[in-house]
Amino acid sequence: MSAQPATLFVIFGATGDLAQRMLLPSLYGLQSENLLPDAMRILGSGRTELDDSGFRAFVREALETFIPAAELNETHVTALLARLHYQPADVSNADSMAALCQVITNLRHGDVVYHLSTAPRFFAPITAALGTHNLSGPGTRVMLEKPIGTSLDTAREINDGVAQHFAEDRIYRVDHYLGKEGVQNLLALRFGNALFEPLWNARYIEQVQITIAETVGVEGRGDYYDSSGAIRDMLQNHLLQLLCLTAMEAPSAFEPTAVRNEKIKVLSSLRPITAHDVNVETARGQYTAGELADQTVPGYDEELGRDSDTETFVAVRAMVDNWRWRGVPFYLRTGKRMPERETKIFIQFKAVPHSIFGSKAISEPNALIIRLQPEERIELELLNKTPGLDRHGIRFAKVSLDFDAQEEFKALRRRPAYERLYLDAIEGNGTLFVRRDETETSWAWVDGILAGWEQAELHPSPYPAGSWGPTSATHLVARNGHEWN
Ligand code: NAP
Repeated sequence: MSAQPATLFVIFGATGDLAQRMLLPSLYGLQSENLLPDAMRILGSGRTELDDSGFRAFVREALETFIPAAELNETHVTALLARLHYQPADVSNADSMAALCQVITNLRHGDVVYHLSTAPRFFAPITAALGTHNLSGPGTRVMLEKPIGTSLDTAREINDGVAQHFAEDRIYRVDHYLGKEGVQNLLALRFGNALFEPLWNARYIEQVQITIAETVGVEGRGDYYDSSGAIRDMLQNHLLQLLCLTAMEAPSAFEPTAVRNEKIKVLSSLRPITAHDVNVETARGQYTAGELADQTVPGYDEELGRDSDTETFVAVRAMVDNWRWRGVPFYLRTGKRMPERETKIFIQFKAVPHSIFGSKAISEPNALIIRLQPEERIELELLNKTPGLDRHGIRFAKVSLDFDAQEEFKALRRRPAYERLYLDAIEGNGTLFVRRDETETSWAWVDGILAGWEQAELHPSPYPAGSWGPTSATHLVARNGHEWN
């Protein structure tokens, strides 16, 4: 049965932090552009005891806190609030779940989307309750928030639990990076233009670097983060998804199966990293006290209040062992308390095979830099002749063709990732969600590194807050004759 636009949207975890900061504002964004189906109701649930009017007040406060006043329009706020219902439920209390399911049954008149914005340990019990109450059949879709587990085994357990009640094509695993405008633009750049694709391979590309750098520390999320670390929190999902979109072959169409089939081929081609090579193929770090934006900030242990062996920085040399990418390193790195917040993909081409301008002329390889956040811009670094008579040989300067998407499209509103993901889930389009095999193949590869770290006793090396990570990260790229962009 093909999906119909949902007429009921249920958020589990509707009182949580993510709901307040991202999910409810995204529903407002869709409401403000009349993109929500007319008949659609929205049901929130959490443990907090609220009635419908209490939830409406809660949502109004979240919108007023997290959306700039200039962007809030009372007509749209009122229209959104009029769609809202609330039913408290505790996942561990069967009676309260039964009461919630009864409310869902009463409100249901067509397709339903459930967004499980709760801890992952609740995913299987929530879907089991929905199944028991006949609320998981055709016409229902379930969005699962990240993380899907903390290892291959735990991911399988969650996926098996959910699969008992929902068919795979109705399970929408969220990686909110895929909802970002800049990330979709990466696909537009690669597959909407003829210019780059012929060069997009090992013959012309020397190396690729994908960086997700954050300036923040762990703040209030210390306990969650400490059981996860940078590799589980960022690399297993966001970094590997960006790698897939950068490295994959052209899908036959921009539709769920075709896109996911190409992504899984990339993940399956990743060369395993084990205890034998973790010391040369990975770098692991943890921030210590340092200076950031002229402020002294504490170290990770200090923020956490105890000693910890969890990494807040990870860099990996990932090799995609297939025809297209043979021998091209994909350096992936992510860290907290970096000097700048930025997500970017740096693609360095090979140098020209022979310089006709003599040994004095600089020969700098071209590079394409795709910046995804906070700015969205695309820079192409080229060599240009420096104006002059050049009687002793031509002189070059490195210049940049620089396209700023925010400036170019400033008349258009920038949408948060969840607006796109919510609209797709409501309309039943899973292209920008992650399939089970992608999640599990990513975990299998990451598990190999985690096991390698343990066996090789590779502990995080300290790096001062406000720096680009430990020296082992510099060595990781230098070993291959490269340096971080
Ligand atoms: P949170 O602030 O701790 O909220 C958790 C939500 O789950 C609350 O609505 C809470 O309800 C509900 N809940 C907790 N225990 C429950 C139970 N036994 N039965 C029913 N509901 C229960 O967490 P969050 O930051 O919103 O994150 C939600 C999920 O998204 C987490 O799995 C997290 O890993 C993931 N995530 C979060 C972020 C982020 O930036 N915050 C980013 C990516 C992914 P009450 O508060 O009413 O008790």
